[in-house]
Amino acid sequence: MVTEDFTKKPLPAITDIDREFWDGVNNNKLVVQKCLDCNTLQFFPRPVCVHCFGEKLGWQEVKGTGKVYSFTIVTVPRSPAFRKQVEQTGTPIIFAAIDLDEGIRMMSQIVDCKPGDVQIGSKVKAIFELVEGTDFKVPKFRLEK
Ligand SMILES: [Zn+2]
Repeated sequence: MVTEDFTKKPLPAITDIDREFWDGVNNNKLVVQKCLDCNTLQFFPRPVCVHCFGEKLGWQEVKGTGKVYSFTIVTVPRSPAFRKQVEQTGTPIIFAAIDLDEGIRMMSQIVDCKPGDVQIGSKVKAIFELVEGTDFKVPKFRLEK
């Protein structure tokens, strides 16, 4: 029987639909889908435009700046990998919905600050952080001063 190591953080199962996004992240860029029919940006990547159901989708780099729409402080993560992180660092995870300046919402973590530093409306900027023990990056956010 093969048992999965739940103390390692899960990595995304990359598909043809989201490969461009993850390639961008691993090159320190936030790249999101843009509908070539109605010019709407969307995140997360999907096979069709959620605005007009158009199937002609391209990609556009966004600045990675935005504001906190909402957030929660996770002190006891359900995932053993994230629980291990909280136990080792003594810092809870700040999980947030970020409204990017281009008008799309993204779920991510806010890092390198204390939970009390974050407020709804706080300005943030994307960073690209290696997942421990891998050469794979994920986008997270830092507070902008
Ligand atoms: Zn569209």
